[in-house]
Amino acid sequence: METNNFIEDIIVEELEEGKVKTVHTRFPPEPNGYLHIGHAKSLCLNFGTAEKFGGVCNLFFDDTNPSKEKTEYVEAIKEDIKWLGFDWYEVHYASDFFDVIYEKAIKLIEDGKAFVCDLSAEEISASRGTLTEPGKESPYRNRSISENLRLFTEMHDGKYKDGEKVLRAKIDMASPNINLRDPVIYRVLRATHHRTGDKWCIYPMYDFAHPICDSMQGVTHSLCTLEFEDHRPLYNWVVENTEVKHKPRQIEFARLNITNTVMSKRYLKKLVEDGAVTGWDDPRMPTLTGLRNRGVPAEALKNFCEAIGISKANSEIEVSYFEHFIRDYLNLHAERAMAVFEPLKVTITNFPEKFEDEDFEINPNEPEKGMRKIQMGKVIYIEREDFSLDPPPKYFRLRLGGYVRLKNAYIIKCNEVKYDDNGAIAELLCEYVPESRSGNDTSGIKVKGVIHWVDAASAVDCTIKKYDYLLNDAEYSGQDFSERMNYDSVHEFKGKAEKYLAEAKDGDSFQLMRKGYYKKFDDNGKTVLSEIVSLKDSFKVNN
Ligand code: ATP
Ligand code: MG
Repeated sequence: METNNFIEDIIVEELEEGKVKTVHTRFPPEPNGYLHIGHAKSLCLNFGTAEKFGGVCNLFFDDTNPSKEKTEYVEAIKEDIKWLGFDWYEVHYASDFFDVIYEKAIKLIEDGKAFVCDLSAEEISASRGTLTEPGKESPYRNRSISENLRLFTEMHDGKYKDGEKVLRAKIDMASPNINLRDPVIYRVLRATHHRTGDKWCIYPMYDFAHPICDSMQGVTHSLCTLEFEDHRPLYNWVVENTEVKHKPRQIEFARLNITNTVMSKRYLKKLVEDGAVTGWDDPRMPTLTGLRNRGVPAEALKNFCEAIGISKANSEIEVSYFEHFIRDYLNLHAERAMAVFEPLKVTITNFPEKFEDEDFEINPNEPEKGMRKIQMGKVIYIEREDFSLDPPPKYFRLRLGGYVRLKNAYIIKCNEVKYDDNGAIAELLCEYVPESRSGNDTSGIKVKGVIHWVDAASAVDCTIKKYDYLLNDAEYSGQDFSERMNYDSVHEFKGKAEKYLAEAKDGDSFQLMRKGYYKKFDDNGKTVLSEIVSLKDSFKVNN
């Protein structure tokens, strides 16, 4: 079998040695926010690895932090995973295992491997030691088993205030790994849990709960990001000391970081709460719901995740690399259409008074979709920047006395410019070359430029929305996200669109010829074209 990364290499070896029979992974979000593009990497890894080896992948909600978790997030996470096209084997919650985790804690106490500690959080952290100095043992470390059992039961029964007592694993205060210096494994916390309500006033810590939950689900490979590498010895200690049936293995991989992009739920939540964006699904947000709303196809996101691969070294990916996959997918699959963003009226003086239908290719990459008709009349709109009175070298668009081809229609020549009272260009008077019809051009006229246009009589007014990144980058990097915020990231203006776009389904995506990829939606009967991703930067000119 061909492997694509070090995790697959490990799995192949384990399968060959018979250490593992069926690969079982899990995707473990904490339901404290919406999923973002970083989670997509983890989703593709967990679901993709299980699928590749004929195994299964669970959805596991890591809900050990009741004060920040909500059912709203649970539902949103499920929806986002389905959107990406993944199907979980079983869904579990850490809270489903609270009883088991509690029993495991009791067992540790009975084995003399855990103790109740009265030190405050600050005192515990102060006695932790440093990378070069060992920690100091807690004065409560040598309590008797029976006293520990009594105190822990009292913690469970609600006898102590939040933070008054904790349960700590008794490991080694001199361990070179700080995570093994008698870590806290249970704390007193009065918070209503979104699933267990007020049943518990003690909650297990992530490092204690996670390995037990992995084991209870039969997970074989617990894949997590690199910052948990130092926690692996504690993960293994819990697995070895709690008599669990299945022994899962933790493997770490590098997080996804992308330029101009925030990937922390905490900060994304702040953007939502501060009103800096319209919600978790704002099209500028790197959340999966935001990307979906933006019009990014799930396949493009998956192709991107596959291309960046899985490694053990953290790095930052250019956001343009992600955009490349969006463009790539839409280029193959999005219908073509025309809209003019800054309309300039053109009257074709020799065009007949009646309308004519031109053949327009739906998508040259999908020839099987064929052609559709677009209407053309005597008055059309072209893009303001496609006409120049003072054209620079290599300007192949329209100029006074010059020729240009209208996409899928005729060659026109500009004969006259009309100005408004302020001296601005108001209208062009052009003539068309009747023998130059696209597909049947016998005119013999060679033109280098092809421009898009819309028929004035049938076009509709539309609102165009373009987006910049939410975050400034490069020179700002390292600064706090709030200092990098780009407060001018939505640009809205009025244009003219083909009627076809007004009639299109809400949410359909198009390549607007020469403009970019846009999603159409309807805002109270008004056509809105919302940018998904730009076309590659094109030649710009100042008139
Ligand atoms: P955040 O800091 O955004 O809250 P998190 O790691 O706390 O992220 P979780 O809900 O705990 O979020 O993450 C679920 C899974 O997704 C974990 O396995 C986590 O490691 C993984 N994950 C989160 N962010 C990224 C990322 N940027 N790249 C790859 N995997 C990620
Ligand atoms: Mg987390």
